[in-house]
Amino acid sequence: MATPGTPDRSTREHVLGGTTTVVETACPLDCPDACSLAVTVQRGKVVTIDGSRKNPVTDGYICAKVRTFGERVYGPDRLLYPAVRDGRKGSGTFKRVTWDEAIERIALRFENAKFGAGAESILPFSYGGSNGLLTQDNIDAQLWRRFGTSRLARTVCAAPTGAANMALYGKMPSVTYQDYPEAKLIILWGVNPSASGIHLVPYVREAQKRGAKLVVVDPRTTTLARLADIHLAVTPGTDVVVALAIHRHLFANGHTNDAFLREHTRGADVLKERAEPWTFARAAEVSGLDASAIEAVATLYAESSPALIRCGWGLERNRNGGNAAMSVLALPAVGGKFGVRGGGYSMSNSTSWNIDRTWIDAPEPNTRIVNMNHLGRALTEYNDPPVNVLFVYNCNPAATMPDQRRVLEGLEREDLFTVVFEQVMTDTALYADVLLPNTTFLEGYDFAKGYGPISLDLGRPVIDAVGEARPNADVFGDLCARLGLRKSDEPTGEVDLMLTVLNSLPASISADLRDGAMPSPPYGTAPVQFVDVFPNTPDKKVDLFPAALDPSTPMGLYRYQPDPRTERYPLALISPASERTISSTLGELPRPDVTLLMHPDDAHARGLGDNDVVRIFNDLGEVHCALTVAPSIRPGTVSLPKGIWRRSTRNNATGTALVPDTLTDLGEGACFNDARVQVASLPNG
Ligand code: SF4
Repeated sequence: MATPGTPDRSTREHVLGGTTTVVETACPLDCPDACSLAVTVQRGKVVTIDGSRKNPVTDGYICAKVRTFGERVYGPDRLLYPAVRDGRKGSGTFKRVTWDEAIERIALRFENAKFGAGAESILPFSYGGSNGLLTQDNIDAQLWRRFGTSRLARTVCAAPTGAANMALYGKMPSVTYQDYPEAKLIILWGVNPSASGIHLVPYVREAQKRGAKLVVVDPRTTTLARLADIHLAVTPGTDVVVALAIHRHLFANGHTNDAFLREHTRGADVLKERAEPWTFARAAEVSGLDASAIEAVATLYAESSPALIRCGWGLERNRNGGNAAMSVLALPAVGGKFGVRGGGYSMSNSTSWNIDRTWIDAPEPNTRIVNMNHLGRALTEYNDPPVNVLFVYNCNPAATMPDQRRVLEGLEREDLFTVVFEQVMTDTALYADVLLPNTTFLEGYDFAKGYGPISLDLGRPVIDAVGEARPNADVFGDLCARLGLRKSDEPTGEVDLMLTVLNSLPASISADLRDGAMPSPPYGTAPVQFVDVFPNTPDKKVDLFPAALDPSTPMGLYRYQPDPRTERYPLALISPASERTISSTLGELPRPDVTLLMHPDDAHARGLGDNDVVRIFNDLGEVHCALTVAPSIRPGTVSLPKGIWRRSTRNNATGTALVPDTLTDLGEGACFNDARVQVASLPNG
């Protein structure tokens, strides 16, 4: 019975007209959780997006971001038809063309590039705009490989943590959300699940209810940091020394599991030697923490079992990011925390399905590799050959790549031919020569693979494509065909590709997906490390000192590189995930302008107050926005949200305008948190 005043279903139908249908699908966006969704559709349009209970971990609720995804699908920024530039670069002035014209124009440019400076003068540029299996590294990969374009090193995120996890454990599957309540100690290190991976939060809270201690390592007082037993508000870039001080404590005080170290690891002696200089006092001095707080965490870790470390991505975005991840991920091996449910480490489980993309029939050519963090450099400096054609998809580099000023300078080049294949008019799309409209995940198939929980689901179209938008598989298939690169038996579009992938998966998995069920992962949904799963290193041991990496790491493994702060630019700028975007997806939606978060001590020292309009600057650029003064960030560190678009600030610059394009010690990742800045009042701002 309906609550008085609340229309029941039949009333709604009467008022709105047309019956409503609820369609099940799954979220493939770049988030660890891969929620199952229940989307209400009426007259072919999305009415509401909600969680479904099909995925037991995400269990019927979803983030506020995807609840509002309809605003992207039908919003004023949606790209509805192919278009070509009809004004100066960046002006956003375009003229409509047909798909055939657009594909022909691109194909001709590709052919000219190949016969001119060579195919390596074409740079395909993509990242995880969707994490689904169909939207990246499929027909697109075949096209780039067969045509011989430059290759892209996708390093903007997860490269250092991935390199560390690979070196130490060969990317062993890790503890999943379901086992958190078993832990007696949880350390959330450089991760804020309240903003990204929200379904972890209730599992952490359940563990606390059962008596688990919680430690949070984060420069900000996040929601979970407020609820933690110990909060280490670490200086950005110094996580490595905090972890090494804990190692030193374990080694020096008999808290290692020597039998485990002998049987399951190698290289512990070098790690012990490199941790030795890091007393609590020295680590405290470098990290800006109290030595007693680091010691309290080390003692708690030594004494707790099961003890679980969630290694996030916040600790990797600096010059020491690889060594930070190495040091943090090595802790459970040294402390003997494996072999028990709820113990060990937890990070990306993206490889836990063992899916090899065997359906891609094209070997990697030995062409030039361009690190995506160097896009600005590549567009403005590379000349052997220069980048003459840029093809951007699943990505908004004008807003997200380091050294924004140089990226924009490159995109403004009149002799650069830029294709942007996108859902909405992004900051990058404004610079396109040819603009191609892309479907969203609600308009097509995709495989949503969780990398927090180990889950896999097949997302289905909920509505027809909006306007003339087309899926990646169809468009890259057309380009392959036009360039004579498609074999006759290859998938010709999204449905074909989806069936090809389904048929390539193990039979039991594909049968479940066809039936609309959640398949079982190879090691179960909650594997116990060193019981159900073991390292995938060549000798199945934890390699605590992967010697081959030592000489290629600037100061060697388990070493610390000093803070890049200067007298002129003393503040560390961080850019953590927020509640407003998924990476940069949804940044187009009208939301309040972003503010810079600053500690009251830093604001007072600069004569700044809450809501003042400020200028954040360094030698690379500047950003103008309002200030939020609050003690929820450590002194000496300021914060702007990750993934914002140029429209979110007063001078059309994002935090990336202040980020150097230097690379991490391992994995060649981005050093977003190495931006050092000054902040001053902006009169009349
Ligand atoms: S972004 Fe994450 S939390 Fe939000 S719906 Fe998608 S998977 Fe779920």
